[in-house]
Amino acid sequence: MARQFFVGGNFKMNGTIQSIKEIIENLNNAKIDENVEVVISPPTIYLLLAREHLRSGIEVAAQNVFNKPNGAFTGEISVSQLKDSGITWALLGHSERRTILSESDDFVASKAKAALDGGLGVILCCGESLEQREAGKTIEVVTSQLKAVADAIGKDWSKVVIAYEPIWAIGTGKVASTEQAQEVHKAIREWLKKEVSEEAAEKTRIIYGGSVNEKNCGELTKQEDIDGFLVGGASLKPAFVDIINAKS
Ligand code: PGA
Repeated sequence: MARQFFVGGNFKMNGTIQSIKEIIENLNNAKIDENVEVVISPPTIYLLLAREHLRSGIEVAAQNVFNKPNGAFTGEISVSQLKDSGITWALLGHSERRTILSESDDFVASKAKAALDGGLGVILCCGESLEQREAGKTIEVVTSQLKAVADAIGKDWSKVVIAYEPIWAIGTGKVASTEQAQEVHKAIREWLKKEVSEEAAEKTRIIYGGSVNEKNCGELTKQEDIDGFLVGGASLKPAFVDIINAKS
């Protein structure tokens, strides 16, 4: 079964009302390959603006969500609040949150469970640092990040998209080679087969992130286990459309 190509745009802590409206207008007017699932993830304060202005068929993801129902959690946002606002995805486990905000594998996993239980889709990020890669620990690091999630959510990965994002490739202009990316994506799929199920291995989209742009995306799409992209910097530019359409 062919997996639907998936392209996410992670705006991170960038944008203004004006610039986000422009990005959305560009997407609304663009000719987008109908076979591609597109999700954009603006900063929290612009989620509603994005949902209101964006055409139907493109979904919106929060860059974070809390693992508890509504209550006394100052500064956090709940799964039900996202759903109430028409936000259907959450981006979880990004390396910037793991490293700068000290989010542990277990915390990420608990948020993934809360999001899935509440009916959101989850873009689950994983990836190794340069030191870990050089020490030959890439697969070990990535699969242990995924195992924490498997322990929390069990066997149903139908609403999870895994984003493999080597930390050394994020925002550095240093994209992983097609071979490096394919090797890890394949290992993730094998891990899914062994630890989750054959169905999860077959159906789960595994997307690549880290310095993807309109020039390097074409080669990456040809890899058997690369089912799309999570795009940071380039998702803020008109060329994001070329990345979405990379396969057509
Ligand atoms: P980048 O970021 O495309 O700017 O490297 C990707 C990401 O962090 O999701």
